[in-house]
This record gives sequence, structure tokens and C-alpha cells, in this order.
Amino acid sequence: PTTVTEFDTITAISTPPGEGAISIVRLSGDESLAIIKRVYRGKDLDQVASHTINYGHIIDPKTDAVVDEVMVSVMRAPKTFTREDVIEINCHGGIVATNRILQLLMSYGTRMAEPGEFTKRAFLNGRIDLTQAESVMDLIRAKTDRAMQVAVDQLDGSLTHLIKNLRQEILEVLAQVEVNIDYPEYDTDEMTTRILLEKAELVKARIGELLQTAQQGKVLREGLATAIVGRPNVGKSSLLNHLLHEDKAIVTDVAGTTRDVLEEYVNVRGVPLKLVDTAGIHDTEDKVEKIGVERSRAAITKADLILLVLNQSEPLTVEDRELITATTDKKRIIILNKTDLPNLLDLNELQTLVNADEVIQTSILTSEGVTDLEAQIAKLFFGGIENSQSTVMITNARQIGLLNQAQQSLDEVISGIAAGMPVDLVQIDMTNCWDKLGEITGDSAPDELITELFSQFCLGK
Ligand code: GDP
Ligand code: ZN
Repeated sequence: PTTVTEFDTITAISTPPGEGAISIVRLSGDESLAIIKRVYRGKDLDQVASHTINYGHIIDPKTDAVVDEVMVSVMRAPKTFTREDVIEINCHGGIVATNRILQLLMSYGTRMAEPGEFTKRAFLNGRIDLTQAESVMDLIRAKTDRAMQVAVDQLDGSLTHLIKNLRQEILEVLAQVEVNIDYPEYDTDEMTTRILLEKAELVKARIGELLQTAQQGKVLREGLATAIVGRPNVGKSSLLNHLLHEDKAIVTDVAGTTRDVLEEYVNVRGVPLKLVDTAGIHDTEDKVEKIGVERSRAAITKADLILLVLNQSEPLTVEDRELITATTDKKRIIILNKTDLPNLLDLNELQTLVNADEVIQTSILTSEGVTDLEAQIAKLFFGGIENSQSTVMITNARQIGLLNQAQQSLDEVISGIAAGMPVDLVQIDMTNCWDKLGEITGDSAPDELITELFSQFCLGK
């Protein structure tokens, strides 16, 4: 795009907010080098090779005082994230020094970047497309390795590739239709509608496959709201602790939104469970039984997955039955805990009460059956695709919305042909589909959309 030259030089702290061992201040734009040279003492940065890291100090030119000891990365355009000159200052003086550096840079002609502005430039300068930009956002927010992998795959452009192929298919058929319209003397109307129909059905099927991954994609992205419910003493806290401590690879939220920090996530085989109302579990410990159930109802309403814990060393109680009824319409796993104790619960009766829902027997005390539980959770959400590494997954609402619209256009193509609609009208719906697919990758995205999209990023990205 020709807009490149209009960009001013921007800066931001690119590491998460809060105290860390090092933080990174990033600069991007034509003036990056000139500006860093004003406040940096060390090698002559004009002379160093691109993509090198250089030791030195940030100084306040007015007083000559050292602000921080730093490593400065120099990355010259165009092989940078934004395709502009990029400087990254690794500082280690804590938040005060980092902010001081930021202020210095701003007093020498840079502007504080808006959230997502670095990534937006990468997009506007043609280095990445929209799905890749969204992947950057997903990466930042990824809760598990698996979620991270999907984001990395998309950063690679695999979704884009798929969409571009579909658009190409449509383009070919549109071109053919065009030819047939231009040469009506061949009277190929029948043939034209046949290829249009074939193509519409093919593309529709492909979009359908993509949309099927959306549920999993959403879970990976946002976490699966999960409630652990059960009457007092069945083992809820024990299960919660087990899941929390077993957890090996939670990627914590670095976007720094306070809302997320308050939520507890556990990673069960790549499924990020967002635990709902864990406070409720802890709170009910010593209180009368009734409170437990009332509290559970609220959690049940909020959750997408219920882990209903029962104690198999006692017969079912009224409260157990209430909870079974209250969770009937939910996706749930029934956990029969305390299998290390003698069994006093009627399993046949239970299975009738819970219909075909999965019942898993565990002893959280001895860790028995917990693996089965985890496998069941993963199976529930990934089904057959759990182990396939390179699946393209749709992960966000914008993409889902556009795919649905593209599919609608195809439905209109198909019904239009069935109703004997003239080819040039059918062609309009086919073109709509092509447009909608283009919006996914940003090939035909309107300006407001781009602004809206990038504003969802966190600062410094
Ligand atoms: P909650 O009230 O549902 O949260 O139940 P807790 O997790 O606090 O557990 C209540 C009691 O049952 C505790 O003393 C646990 O140690 C014990 N417990 C939990 N799981 C098991 C189990 O699998 N077997 C046995 N024998 N005891 C368990
Ligand atoms: Zn408890």
C-alpha cells in the first residue's frame, strides 16, 4: 500500500504490565533510528548490521544522567514485524526506568502506540493478512499449548491459504459464466447453471467443514466455562486441587486484563477449562447442605460443562437427585468419587437417572480414574480431531460470522438455480460469497472493520 510513508514513528512498552526481570520498549517507523540515537550511548547504531543486539546505556541528553543499562536491537526495514525500521530496547531497571525511557522517546518525537498498532502496521504494510493478525491476538491470549499451536498454524497463513483457494475456485467459475454471458449465441445456459451449481455445492461443503471446527476453536480461544458441582464432602475441592496442581502448561494471560486474572484456568489435555464459581466450592465447606445446592444452581447456569461429583460410598441423597435434575440439559460428566471405599450407590439406578451421559469412576484420594476423566473431557470437545496437529481451526466470531454469510450466499445460488433464476442474478450471489470470504483475510475489508479489529489488541503489540 502507498500509505506506508504517511506513518509516524510509534512506541510502546511491549512486555506485560507489572514488574518483571526485563521489559521491552519498542519503536517502529522511519524515525526510529534517529530517535534512539538521541538517547543511547554505546556503539554507533548507524554502523551496526541490521538484526543485531547492542549493549549500551540510555541517557537523558539534557543531564547526561544514565537512565538504564540496556540491550538495543536494531532491525531495519523491510524485514521486520511492521516492515518499518524497528528498535527494541531491552531494559532491566523495573517499571520506573522503563517508563522514563518511554517518556524520553516521546519527548524526541515518537508517539505512544495505540493498542494493536504495531500489528495493524504489519497488516497495512502488507506483511500479514487479517487472519494472521487475529492469530497474533490469539497467541497473546492463548491458554494452553494446543490453543497456542492453532494460533501459530494460522500465523503461518494456513487458514488464509484455504480461503484463497476457495476464492480462486469461485473466481474460475465466475469467469466461465462471464464468457457464456458474453457469447449467448452458444446458448450454453444449461451448462453454465450446472457448473455454478456444482461449484456452489463444493464450496459450501468446504465452508461447512471449517465451521465445524468453530466450536473447538471458540473453546480453545476463550476457555470452556466449567462448573464443579456436588453436595458437600463428595470431593469437589479435592478434584479442583488435583486439576490445578496436575496442570503443567497453563499459559497465563499476559494481556493484563484484570477480568481474566480473576478467572481460574486449568489445562486438561489442551482443553482450557475456565472454572466457574470456584469461590462457591471453597465457601460451602462448613455450611449447611442447602447452601451448597443453591450456590450450585448459579454456577450451573453459567457453565457450558458440568462436572457433577457424587460419592459412591453412600446411597444417592435427595440433594444428589436435585443436582442430577438441575444439570440434565447441560453437557456434563458424572464423577463417581471415592471408589477406594466400599460401594453403596446403586449404579444401575444412577445410569437410568443420567440417561446416556458418561459416568466416570474416580478416587481422587489415590488418583485413580482421573486420567479417564481427563480423557473424557478432551474427547467431549475434540472428538476425532484431538490428535491431528495441523487442523485449520476457526477461532473467532468475526470469521464465523463471515463464513455463515458466505454460506448463505451459496444457499441463494443453489435455490436460485433450482427456481430457474437468470444466470446473471445467480452470479451476483456467487460474487457475494467471494466478497465475504475475502473479508476474512482482509482482501475486501472495509476501513472501520480494520480499526475495530486492531483496537482489541493489547498495548505494545
Ligand atoms: P467437597 O466438600 O465436595 O469440596 O469435598 P472435599 O474435596 O473437601 O473432600 C471431603 C473429604 O473427602 C475430604 O476429607 C477428602 O480428603 C475426602 N476425599 C476426597 N476424595 C476422596 C476419595 O476419592 N476417597 C476418599 N476416601 N476420600 C476422599
Ligand atoms: Zn471442599
